[in-house]
Amino acid sequence: MFVDGLRCRECGRAYPAEALHVCEYCFGPLEVAYDYEAIAAATSRESIAAGPLSIWRYADLLPAHNDGAVDLGAGFTPLVRADRLAAELGLGELWIKNDTTNPTGSFKDRVVAVALARARELGFKVAACASTGNLANSVAAHAARAGMRHIVFVPADLEAGKIVMTSVYGPHLVAVDGSYDDVNRLCAELTSEHPTWAFVNVNLRTYYAEGSKTLAFETAEQLGWQAPDHVVVPVGSGSQLTKIAKGFEELRKVGLVEGGPAVRISGAQAMGCSPVAAAFTGHHDYVRPVKPATIAKSIAIGNPADGWYALDAVRSSGGALAAVSDEELVQGIKLLARTEGIFAETAGGVTIATLAKLAAEGVVRPDERVVAYVTGHGLKTIEAVAPAVAPPVTISPSLESFDEALGADFEEQP
Ligand SMILES: [Zn+2]
Repeated sequence: MFVDGLRCRECGRAYPAEALHVCEYCFGPLEVAYDYEAIAAATSRESIAAGPLSIWRYADLLPAHNDGAVDLGAGFTPLVRADRLAAELGLGELWIKNDTTNPTGSFKDRVVAVALARARELGFKVAACASTGNLANSVAAHAARAGMRHIVFVPADLEAGKIVMTSVYGPHLVAVDGSYDDVNRLCAELTSEHPTWAFVNVNLRTYYAEGSKTLAFETAEQLGWQAPDHVVVPVGSGSQLTKIAKGFEELRKVGLVEGGPAVRISGAQAMGCSPVAAAFTGHHDYVRPVKPATIAKSIAIGNPADGWYALDAVRSSGGALAAVSDEELVQGIKLLARTEGIFAETAGGVTIATLAKLAAEGVVRPDERVVAYVTGHGLKTIEAVAPAVAPPVTISPSLESFDEALGADFEEQP
């Protein structure tokens, strides 16, 4: 492992690589620091290619070892060339990073695998999290695999699929009557009360967040070790976007990808919870918290922990942030399914609808190589799209009945 320790993002103070997440001097967030010279000397495209087909092929750039105990095979998801979608949006080279194929159907498997591997190294026996759903699914599955006790906190109004996809692994599932921001606050208090619990996105957050860098690593490797020109990323807490930015930077730093213009990074939010997009369009230097009201529950975080850093990453890369309505995100889900055969959850619909909006505005351009991150499976949020799809045609089991109901109509279509 090439970890030098932890460092405060604000004041730069150094800390040991323990379960710490906040600077005790300035309350800034802590970040993992690496010895990039040593990584550059030890790591090559060939050594990575010889690694497992999972996030662990990039272990040299991650803050934990994989001893197999937690591993469900997170990562190395398909990067799909999306020509039919590109044609509809008036774009040129467009790719979808299809993270719906992860073990529990979302990108959260990347961050949880790293957080719980590190938690075990630090001696934790209990896994915990505050979740909008996908994280709950992933923590429960990975903890079950590792034989760790687990306790998971979610807002009580979560989609049914995400509740069952958590309960099936047998955790203590606690539904909190409040928003995700309420759940998160409660879990911050519980972390102080129960220092022996590894809350993956509270006291283990520094390690957890690093897992998202693998979304950048894989994209570059799958493009033949080239960075894309422009990526579009959904924004909830803002952590994923900032870590994708960090991932592309690190690849250049250790010489795996050649220099060139920085990757433009754009962010996608739902209008019913768009504090970061609002700060971008309002030219503010702060992110004002909001009360979420959107069906895109997995990114409905009104007070995003990394909101300011996401805003900064977007601005400094020359990208943009935009928000779409619930109706638009449902159309985004249907558009991606219809053109590329990928069924995304609501956050994926937000990403595709925002991509469409930014393409129409000329922010995402046809001369760019573009990657859109689709981070969760549609089966998790089936109630969002169910009212917007055509019901089946019901017939009796005879040719006559089929011809009468549908036959000629089907033939006529191209
Ligand atoms: Zn500090």
